[in-house]
Amino acid sequence: MQPLQNLCKKFPGAVVKQFPKGHLMAAGALTVILASGLIFYPSDTPAVEAVSTVSTEPAFISLPAQDAPALLPVNSILDATLASTPFAITDISALPEQEQQAVVDENIRPKEFTIKSGDSLSIIFQRAGLGDGAIYELFNSSPDSKELRRIMPGQTIAFAISDDGKLEKLTYVKNELTSLEFSRTEKGFSSKKVEREPEIRTAFRHATINSSLFMAGKNAGMSNSMVMDLANIFAWDIDFAQDIRRGDQFKVMFEEKFIDGKKIGNGAILAVEFINQGKKHNAVRYTDREGYTNYYTPTGESMRKAFLRMPVDFARISSHFNLNRKHPVLHTIRAHKGTDYAAPRGTPIKAAGDGKIVHAAAKGGYGNTVIIQHGQGYQTLYAHMHNFARNIKSGSRVRQGDIIGYVGTTGLSTGPHLHYEFHVNGVPKNPLTIDLPKTVAIEKSEKQEFLSKTRMVVAQLDQYRTPTQLALADDTEPNIN
Ligand SMILES: [Zn+2]
Repeated sequence: MQPLQNLCKKFPGAVVKQFPKGHLMAAGALTVILASGLIFYPSDTPAVEAVSTVSTEPAFISLPAQDAPALLPVNSILDATLASTPFAITDISALPEQEQQAVVDENIRPKEFTIKSGDSLSIIFQRAGLGDGAIYELFNSSPDSKELRRIMPGQTIAFAISDDGKLEKLTYVKNELTSLEFSRTEKGFSSKKVEREPEIRTAFRHATINSSLFMAGKNAGMSNSMVMDLANIFAWDIDFAQDIRRGDQFKVMFEEKFIDGKKIGNGAILAVEFINQGKKHNAVRYTDREGYTNYYTPTGESMRKAFLRMPVDFARISSHFNLNRKHPVLHTIRAHKGTDYAAPRGTPIKAAGDGKIVHAAAKGGYGNTVIIQHGQGYQTLYAHMHNFARNIKSGSRVRQGDIIGYVGTTGLSTGPHLHYEFHVNGVPKNPLTIDLPKTVAIEKSEKQEFLSKTRMVVAQLDQYRTPTQLALADDTEPNIN
């Protein structure tokens, strides 16, 4: 949709992109015609796609093929001014009988329009029987009206028009969940944002890993972002770059969002079980009394530790912490006080824990470097960054997992990688071998509430079996080596 933004800048009338060149030209020509005071319909009929709120039987107009950029005469929306325009093709007697009826019947006024490729706000207002004057009135009195400049195909705009042809109310439905309502008041228009709550249902997926975590997720019908969420839940317990084996399995219970019976997307993962090299890991989602949502083991231990195991996802360790290493550039024995993660240039680097940035600038051989102070004597350092993430500067606060910058090869470096150091009371330590502090488990006073709220979810996931799993239980398939 990005090109649309550019287009919108060029055409303030919010001409919607995504249509073939011929249509663009037709739409362009249309805009010109409209600007010169003539009003025509584009290819599609308002009567066909409009949801009429008029109780009388609507007389639909038969039109050419939807894609044909034919310019059709104005019918029911025609008012006296327009009728007198010399260029308007409104010789009613020349139209077939059905169309004549549509033209003369003032009651048939389409109220709701679905935006199509090539539509502009001006075109849609014309379809509703409103001129550019109504647009100016709306834009002059309501700051929220600028959102109407970003109309996209598939969205809808509904109009309520008074008997004397004045716009009383406009409803812009941006998506299934969000709409904007503009209502006439004594001083122009007021606006109101309306959010709908989707219906939440639960769903399950099961997968066995044959090649990669992402392929397994894909085969089970999961989106990449859900697989990523799953990996993040176990980020402290499973190293997804090194520990995954063929035959590992996972089951996940998650939310699906519905509006009017139609699925509009996925919600959060509620519970997940991951079997890695025969070891079962379980996690369940819980929002505590203070409103913080985290994942816990079924007994209430936090899945999250104070520090991430790795500050980059799915990266390969190219050089370990080693106080007697020969430096690859300087060729002398120089302690390697950190861990190197080889990753493509531009790979996001995450803050290993909550804290405050105390350095975000070039730092000699380290190149572009971020240092985070985490409190209790912990500091982490990220070197050779290609660049810093937005808003990352000395003094900024970061949360664990926030992106602070991107992998690069600035400073003394042989190729794109992250050099990561972990300091405890000023002394560099190996983050892979030291005992990292845990974040707090569920408080004792909240434990009963936690157990009663999560027990059912954990049990539901535990009992979930796919048809494949049931079949495999009786199967004599040999082990794959
Ligand atoms: Zn290094």
